[in-house]
Amino acid sequence: MEERKSVLITGAKLLLLLVMSCLMGLTPQATKPGDERATFLPNYMASNLSFDASRTRLASRDFGGLTGAPPHGVLVPSSVHEIANLVRVAYEADAHFRVAAKGHAHSIQGQAQAPGGVVIEMEALKGCLFNVGVLENESCSFSSSYSVERESVERESGGSLYYADVWGGELWIDVLHETLKHGLAPRSWTDYLYLTVGGTLSNAGISGQAFNHGPQISNVYELDVVTGKGELLTCSKHQNSELFHSVLGGLGQFGIITRARIALEPAPQRVRWIRVLYSDFNTFTRDQEHLISLHGRTKFDYVEGFVIVDEGLINNWRSSFFSPRNPIKLQSIVSGSKGTVLYCLEVTKNYDEATADTVDQEVDSLLKTLSFIQGSVFTTDLPYIDFLDRVHKAELKLRAKGLWDVPHPWLNLFIPKSKIADFDAGVFKGILGKKTSGPILIYPMNKNRWDEKTSAVTPDEDVFYLVAFLRSALDNGEETQSLRYLQDQNERILRFCEEANIEMKQYLPHHTKRAQWVQHYGPKWAEFEERKATFDPKNILAPGQRIFSAAQPIILPSASSS
Ligand code: FAD
Repeated sequence: MEERKSVLITGAKLLLLLVMSCLMGLTPQATKPGDERATFLPNYMASNLSFDASRTRLASRDFGGLTGAPPHGVLVPSSVHEIANLVRVAYEADAHFRVAAKGHAHSIQGQAQAPGGVVIEMEALKGCLFNVGVLENESCSFSSSYSVERESVERESGGSLYYADVWGGELWIDVLHETLKHGLAPRSWTDYLYLTVGGTLSNAGISGQAFNHGPQISNVYELDVVTGKGELLTCSKHQNSELFHSVLGGLGQFGIITRARIALEPAPQRVRWIRVLYSDFNTFTRDQEHLISLHGRTKFDYVEGFVIVDEGLINNWRSSFFSPRNPIKLQSIVSGSKGTVLYCLEVTKNYDEATADTVDQEVDSLLKTLSFIQGSVFTTDLPYIDFLDRVHKAELKLRAKGLWDVPHPWLNLFIPKSKIADFDAGVFKGILGKKTSGPILIYPMNKNRWDEKTSAVTPDEDVFYLVAFLRSALDNGEETQSLRYLQDQNERILRFCEEANIEMKQYLPHHTKRAQWVQHYGPKWAEFEERKATFDPKNILAPGQRIFSAAQPIILPSASSS
């Protein structure tokens, strides 16, 4: 009650200030459509609102390094109510301004930017909230066809459904550290943990566990959300369910996630991590699809894979697995492999003291069902936390060489199973031309682990593949590593999909035209638009996605000159 009163008072104060500013001639100027850079924010609106150039410059950068549109101001919130107040003022102002929640800014195309608007630094409140609990009378968030999953989750957790309440701007690495103190950990992950909870839940959050547990958006029980009207609402499958489903995978369009209740499981202690090689694509995908069809106890816990079109890549940045002291020589494994495309299946089996005696046997029996190249089994064993945090080790190495803060023209696609062989022939063995500039991930997922009610879109088949081109553009004189070359190649891949009738979906989508967004959402577009009209009717949130606004990003010099 007290809290609500204070929100009302603060909100009223802000409005009063706004009215006063109008009377004093400081009124927000009516912006022309598309004129996102007009000055319309009274600078005393919130004490934590900064117009400092160093802050706005920082808020105009992201991991992609391709675009950089500065906001007018940056909110460094000290409470959730400051966030709600800011959005409410934006909503109630005649000339509303746009607002983007920024997580760890690990987007590629300026998705967390707000050209001329306000960026909210969600990480400012990291650690403000952490609570582990057990759900009473709750059902799992899996789609109904997988109610059987609840039984297996309960069995593995000794009958309890554990959760963690965390701040929306929390990094997953910190969620992991905190939950491990309770012997628990989230069930579904991303490969890299220096991403925020709100940032990945706005997309989907996928990794090698998704075939079994679903993406991270299938492993959330409840959210607190600030809508585009500035209301702070709690939502779940049972309460404000339309908002809950809209926000999950909603690209930040419907609300700002300030709290997420994440599903946990008992944390394993160690991981057996195995890689095996294939030279035949059909055998590789057949084995991957077999492995993701297993759901009982006898299964791997993580199934991924990657494509090797260039021998250098097997020892690349994501492969902390193959140590530099022990580089893998492909020719020694596959005679005459030079120049051929190889595929690496990557799987893990979790274990702890109670299961240590049987892990070898379980792994062997699973490997026996596969048809990889004889003698190409590489195994390592490490603590669970080290496995989950594996990409960070590679990040540190790249940072030390100055190779982390380079442009990243990444392309992530969901390819339907029925077309993955066409994709292999046309792209891995065709367009790539035996040269790449970063890892190429490929792994299948089961669509029934994705809740159709969320805003995320996937191809219309039971099984689809993530294919991720995680490239780094380098200015080293090699044409095939230049940004322009890689961006052209991305365009060629997209064109190839269109021409070959591959009904793929972009993951972490980037489209520049309304018609492309309409096509991206397909039958879900009408619902997506309706949800926008309901929860963010003035189109305030996440303008950097450029779905409902024409705000143009500014191409960074490094991106335009290459
Ligand atoms: P930001 O880039 O800051 O924001 C992304 C979008 O979400 C923006 O539109 C922003 O406005 C919105 N947003 C941010 N916070 C909130 C919030 N609290 N509420 C509502 N909207 C919000 N993805 C995977 O699924 N699996 C992976 O394995 C994976 N690995 C990656 C590895 C690296 C090195 C990188 C750079 C990215 C990876 N990603 C992966 C992609 C990543 O999940 C997305 O880019 C994600 O958006 C990044 O999170 P962020 O916290 O940096 O979000």
